Amino acid sequence: MGTENQGFPARTASSPFASAPPPGAAPQSGGPATGSETVGFRPFPPSASQPTRPFTPSGPPMAPPVGAMRPVQSPLVSQIPGVRPPPPSSNSFPSTAYGPPGGGSFQRFPSPPFPAAQNPPRGPPPTQTLAGHLSPPMSLRPQQPMAPVTMGPPPQSMTSGGNAPPPAIQQSMPPVNPSYSGGVGLQPSFPGYPSKQVLQAPPMPFQSASQGPPTTVSSYPPQVGGFPQHPNLAAQQNLHPSYAPPPSNVQGLVEDFNSLSLSNIPGSLEPGLDHTSFPRPLDGDVEPNSFAEMYPMNCHSRYLRLTTSAIPNSQSLASRWHLPLGAVVCPLAEAPEGEEVPLIDFGSTGIIRCRRCRTYVNPYVTFTDSGRKWRCNICSMLNDVPGEYFSHLDATGRRMDMDQRPELTKGSVEIIAPTEYMVRPPMPPIYFFLIDVSISASKSGMLEVVAQTIKSCLDNLPGYPRTQIGFITYDSTLHFYNMKSSLSQPQMMVVSDLDDIFVPLPDDLLVNLSESRNVVEAFLDSLPLMFQDNVNLESAFGPALRAAFMVMNQLGGKLLIFQNSIPSLGAGRLKLRGDDPRVYGTDKEYALRVAEDPFYKQMAADCTKFQIGINVYAFSDKYTDIASLGTLAKYTGGQVYYYPGFQSSIHGDKLRHELARDLTRETAWESVMRIRCGKGIRFSSYHGNFMLRSTDLLALPAVDCDKAYAMQLTLEETLLTTPTVYFQVALLYTASCGERRIRVHTAVAPVVTDLGEMYRQADTGSIVSVYTRLAIEKTLSAKLDDARNAIQQKIVKALREYRNLHAVQHRLGSRLIYPESLKFLPLYGMSICKSTPLQRGAADASLDERCAAGFTMMALPVKKLLKLLYPNLFRVDEWLLKPSADHDDLKDVLRRLPLAAESLDSRGLYIYDDGFRLVLWFGRMLSPDIAKNLLGTDFAAELSRVTLQEQENGMSKKLMRLIKKVRETDPSYHPMCFLVRQGEQPREGFLLLRNLIEDQMGGSTGYVDWILQLHRQIQQNA
Ligand SMILES: [Zn+2]
Repeated sequence: MGTENQGFPARTASSPFASAPPPGAAPQSGGPATGSETVGFRPFPPSASQPTRPFTPSGPPMAPPVGAMRPVQSPLVSQIPGVRPPPPSSNSFPSTAYGPPGGGSFQRFPSPPFPAAQNPPRGPPPTQTLAGHLSPPMSLRPQQPMAPVTMGPPPQSMTSGGNAPPPAIQQSMPPVNPSYSGGVGLQPSFPGYPSKQVLQAPPMPFQSASQGPPTTVSSYPPQVGGFPQHPNLAAQQNLHPSYAPPPSNVQGLVEDFNSLSLSNIPGSLEPGLDHTSFPRPLDGDVEPNSFAEMYPMNCHSRYLRLTTSAIPNSQSLASRWHLPLGAVVCPLAEAPEGEEVPLIDFGSTGIIRCRRCRTYVNPYVTFTDSGRKWRCNICSMLNDVPGEYFSHLDATGRRMDMDQRPELTKGSVEIIAPTEYMVRPPMPPIYFFLIDVSISASKSGMLEVVAQTIKSCLDNLPGYPRTQIGFITYDSTLHFYNMKSSLSQPQMMVVSDLDDIFVPLPDDLLVNLSESRNVVEAFLDSLPLMFQDNVNLESAFGPALRAAFMVMNQLGGKLLIFQNSIPSLGAGRLKLRGDDPRVYGTDKEYALRVAEDPFYKQMAADCTKFQIGINVYAFSDKYTDIASLGTLAKYTGGQVYYYPGFQSSIHGDKLRHELARDLTRETAWESVMRIRCGKGIRFSSYHGNFMLRSTDLLALPAVDCDKAYAMQLTLEETLLTTPTVYFQVALLYTASCGERRIRVHTAVAPVVTDLGEMYRQADTGSIVSVYTRLAIEKTLSAKLDDARNAIQQKIVKALREYRNLHAVQHRLGSRLIYPESLKFLPLYGMSICKSTPLQRGAADASLDERCAAGFTMMALPVKKLLKLLYPNLFRVDEWLLKPSADHDDLKDVLRRLPLAAESLDSRGLYIYDDGFRLVLWFGRMLSPDIAKNLLGTDFAAELSRVTLQEQENGMSKKLMRLIKKVRETDPSYHPMCFLVRQGEQPREGFLLLRNLIEDQMGGSTGYVDWILQLHRQIQQNA
């Protein structure tokens, strides 16, 4: 189907997660909400490049849905996107472009920049291209030449205990800490946990036995023909004969899969399972690196992560891969430590791009004809090298100036764009604030915190001295503020006609910050006071939004909305439709999660068109229809921050940190993003918060390092004939400094003929990211139950197909079989089903909470999402008692524990950290000395009334340093810290127990049952 663009509003995290549940409050039911997705149509085939168009300010708003967007095509955009390459004739394709198969390109660049180890370079043949024929096997990687390099250890997968596989299990098992295995403190009190001690299982063979002789290279099936596997790769992964191995080959099969015993424990009368042996991601996200080793010039995986680094060569192979085939892209991710994305200025030469497909020059293009031509790695077009960019080639075909050309050696670069990439002068950074000042906004302290935080950030807003700023406040009327620099105090103008909005003094509402600094500060100082006695309950939100749009649409910018109640007056007025538990389980359920009034989607479309990105901050403890409000963020590339029941004394810090980050983080303005890929495949759907402007162009009015996007790939041809496929992400944007730039990330992946290889190269983090987004989208058109079942069914299908590869020969009927690369997939799948947007029913999460979480999760980068799905739990009391002064590496000190009540010892102190919330759990039998040290005189009090503060003793300081460090590790959200003592119900259940996702709680499935369910279903029809 068409591309979907859905952008879920990116909401930010604060929401559900972070903010504290109202003390004592029990979760309520809610419905999910979110807007529907837009659809991008794909009707247009690979679009041609779009002409740039002039901005038409007055243009009529376009159609709402994303789809609609496309007409617009804003000018800016156009250039970025290249056109899709016209299909080169098939014969020509394979040839040259890919140069020496894979290896070729590397070889040419023995560039110094890479540490020895990585350079694959030089090697063999300088190759040029083998035109016409299929490359010999091995072509895939540069390997041989590079041998010394990367691939050190041999194949792990198989048999023996190489490193790889085994760890999986072993790690998870043994480490399981003492308390986990039953020892000491089992607490009977935990509901639902099977307290038996089944745990001692006999050592399980995790990787099933290996038998056959390891496959050797020789085993490459003849058919592989053109798609050679790289030897190393092969060796490493043990390729076995491609899928559908001839029976005769059975013996040669090497087992490279893992399995889990699901039968009873020998010698035990208990019908239990050895659940301690189940795989758990206690090391957090592990970025795939085989990709990096194979292709050192690829961009880092934090920018682009494929769901499998082995691309299927045919549609029939792809159809047997039941997992998503696609990628997660985080174009502005912070660079890995010690690395910077080089900034390149082509100056008068102009940016070097393929004439046909508009690909940017990159490390995988090849130079020929003595340096006068270059071949595009994506469409294989032979392009002229501009005179000013000419360089002689050395004997290996490598440009002599290679070392001075980061764009030819680095997978990620940033290029300064000349004027052709602008349809208007680059916009200045603009921050516009739309602030609810009704009674609850003032009473909760929200106004004061917001005003103070904005004021404190004025020096750090990006873009000085061009930065602009403006404000509108509203309750039942709209209040505009003249901030002209010649004034000493702002002038407030009230507009009460909500139907026909009039914007007074349009030129003085949005002002240059440095010129009007005094007026702006005066305004922020007086704002809380002006409305401290306001008793107005109404919210003319829609009219206020329209007014803000009228002020901003000349230039665009970031619109920050602070909303404390449900919009009650004028356009966009919302009804209290949420939270009717009777709707759950019916066909009307999903509608609660979608914006009801088309006003919201329409406004979002209009804003995106005019380069306005919206972040929504919501604070009410009552239903405010986040489904509708969040739509504004979703389609403008923004986020939703949710602080239900906001009270400045409790949530003030969190709001201060998160708003400050939102205001001061580096932002890319008026952006568009496109991803190109080689012939024969294309990206067919996009998932995240954005609007699709054409079939494959994402409109992102404001982007930053905290935003990621998922997408799925489709094979357009029945058979791919190239040994590799290239991907190139291009983000065209305006930097805060006023420069127009293009951030380009390039990567290559091998094409394979073997399903097993696809599994071996699978990346669970990327797959889970795509799945999560798909599941949340599904809740917008289906019941929660259906969305959860869909996830389970996808995993079942994938593992069943995998089982079919191995089970028959090995009679593993009683075992669950899975590839090492996907050992955590079943657990993450269960976590998705238990996550806030998808969890059980009306009683388990409020509708607003679900929607806010959904908007947030749609935008999260992989690492952050995985941590939310399987949070950290570690014990700290023993560590606090140790004299150690430093805790440099938290990982060494604090070992993560399985998320199950069995991990908790009532004599301990634990920290739960999901990136949005920190919970300190005090065991009932924790030493009173520790409690006194940490809590001072409050040590025996009801912990819901206690705030953690630093005490005058080493232990307390040590703990506070730890918490600070945890927060600094990921500054994108500011986790609030909650204290709870064992047995304090219902808080304990709400804050911690229900988040121990391995447990069976209430009607939810525990890890053991989940695995059994999967196993049963996999065996059906197997
Ligand atoms: Zn091209």
